[in-house]
Amino acid sequence: MGRSVLVTGGNRGIGLAIARDLAAQGHRVAVTHRGSGAPEGLFGVRADVTDSAQVDEAFKQVEEHQGPVEVLVSNAGVTQDTLLMRMSEEQFTSVIDANLTGAYRVAKRASRGMLRAKWGRFIFISSVIGLSGGAGQVNYAASKAGLVGLARSLARELGSRHITANVVAPGFVLTDMTNALSDDQRAAALAQIPAGRYAEPADIAGAVRFLASDEAAYVNGAVLPVDGGLGMGH
Ligand code: NDP
Repeated sequence: MGRSVLVTGGNRGIGLAIARDLAAQGHRVAVTHRGSGAPEGLFGVRADVTDSAQVDEAFKQVEEHQGPVEVLVSNAGVTQDTLLMRMSEEQFTSVIDANLTGAYRVAKRASRGMLRAKWGRFIFISSVIGLSGGAGQVNYAASKAGLVGLARSLARELGSRHITANVVAPGFVLTDMTNALSDDQRAAALAQIPAGRYAEPADIAGAVRFLASDEAAYVNGAVLPVDGGLGMGH
């Protein structure tokens, strides 16, 4: 019968691969979107994670449709790359708001049901950049590093209730996000990856599938790099 799962930003890219993979495992999977509609075969709820009221409404719809969220995959994220000298305060705070405060909003809302059920899985999609840093990515790296502290604090707060909070740190994944980079930037990244290839969204989904499973009950507060060796375990 599976678990009730919500994947934020599950309408495309890595989130969609995660959602499809978990659905194939027999879970009841919902995804958030911001107007694109639900991908075929998945339950979609409209929510921008920068808006607490929309997050609350989305959770209500998911609860009605498939029960309280037992597995939360906080995946929604954005970049606004530019060097610090040129980065406006708005460019910094808007990325933090979507990537880090957004994760706080959905985690807080999901924690209610998990506490009641005395079972839960939080999985936060961070990035190799959160641990290694990235030139032109002060805002993004800070948001992704913040997810580690958020998850580990949650693990300490809720670990005794059969609730785990873990972080997946993908390397370079081929999606719309990385398609926005120049050929030179993509080639430079590839040269640093021991695996000799970029990640496919399915590579990330496999790690999430494990962390969501009953077998991962004793994995808590972990950061799992899925980066072909790019960050070397950080
Ligand atoms: P995409 O740009 O392909 O997709 C981003 C997703 O996040 C979309 O579903 C988008 O929704 C959603 N999203 C963005 N902002 C918001 C918001 N405010 N509220 C709700 N949803 C939002 O990115 P990827 O699939 O590549 O990335 C997914 C996650 O993985 C991100 O957190 C990213 O930082 C991380 N990551 C990606 C890597 C890569 O190489 N691609 C590497 C490491 C980490 P919409 O369709 O409405 O815009």
